[in-house]
Amino acid sequence: MKFDGFETLAIHAGQEPDAGTGAVVVPIYQTSTYAQDGVGGMRQGYEYSRTKNPTRTALEECLAALESGARGLGFASGMAAEDTLLRTVLSPGDHIIIPGDAYGGTFRLISKVVERWGVSWDAVDQTNADAVRDAMRPNTKVVWTETPTNPLLGITDIETVAQIAHDGDALLVVDNTFASPYLQQPLTLGADVVVHSTTKYIGGHSDVVGGALVVADAELGEQLAFHQNTMGAIPGPFDSWLTLRGVKTLGVRMDRHSENAERVVAALEGHSAVRRVYYPGLDTHPGHKIAERQMRSFGGMVSFALRDGEKAALQVCERTKVFTLGESLGGVESLIEHPGRMTHASTAGSALEVPADLVRISVGIESGDDLVADLLQALEG
Ligand SMILES: *Cc1c(COP(=O)(O)O)cnc(C)c1O
Repeated sequence: MKFDGFETLAIHAGQEPDAGTGAVVVPIYQTSTYAQDGVGGMRQGYEYSRTKNPTRTALEECLAALESGARGLGFASGMAAEDTLLRTVLSPGDHIIIPGDAYGGTFRLISKVVERWGVSWDAVDQTNADAVRDAMRPNTKVVWTETPTNPLLGITDIETVAQIAHDGDALLVVDNTFASPYLQQPLTLGADVVVHSTTKYIGGHSDVVGGALVVADAELGEQLAFHQNTMGAIPGPFDSWLTLRGVKTLGVRMDRHSENAERVVAALEGHSAVRRVYYPGLDTHPGHKIAERQMRSFGGMVSFALRDGEKAALQVCERTKVFTLGESLGGVESLIEHPGRMTHASTAGSALEVPADLVRISVGIESGDDLVADLLQALEG
């Protein structure tokens, strides 16, 4: 028999009881080095913790299982994962396609750092797969996708874009941070690499910063492990442990995030102060059909635009009591923010600039009644 349901893997994959003591929870192996049996005689494959650490290994194996990948790799942050990936798969002269509303940090990494090494890029609206096909060049090595996007919750058809990337011998990378592997598994839809900021839903408690890569191909996994060790942007044992602790409840948390988000969306939709709600679960959302096909449910991220513009948006952000004003997302607590002045401030003046009347919320797993009531009082002032 195969016990491979998502929630079972989240709790058990890579997490056998400790061989030495029987500890049910993977210990925090807070060590930098390991005793060797004779020169070059590693005991269980561990010699130095930049290269490998058992707590990190447990997390990496668990994440690989949850994304149905061949190999998982842990990093100190989502950006560290992205940086290591891009420096592994790109060379000077290559071209990369990114989403029109890419995560601000990804846009900054590519436009301010990667470009300097002689890599060119184009930002296109990937909710339209034809736009991706048109942007492909002979030197395109990577198509970088986020779905749902941040902060506009656009949906990209992963299967179609994987086909387009592969037709041009490019890799499809999917930043799966917003959906988490519980809601969406890009590798099973043809993607080559999944990127996570584990800081968000995977860690889930806003108490640790981390990142991960999961790949479909073991050979690419080997190359990435080489770069992970070479560049050294690894998570420490305690951060790996906290992330692994979060992962165990990912499934139940995501169910509740989605459920609460749907309630909040229903309340916002009918409200006279709200101009537009962005949520892939709405059947009026242009990507709804695709989202329905490739996601289990629609997640906890919601954006909405205010009829009275930027000032009204800023006021709502400052009036909520249960929703905390802050950046980040994906934790058990609800957060609210103004992308134009906070998470996406670095896109100001560029083609990726976000609407000024937009508010983004990360709907937590508090009481749904309280979340709806809090937003309504903030809208009414
Ligand atoms: C937060 C985030 C990142 C960056 O991750 P860090 O852990 O903050 O470095 C990348 N992509 C998305 C979609 C994110 O939300």
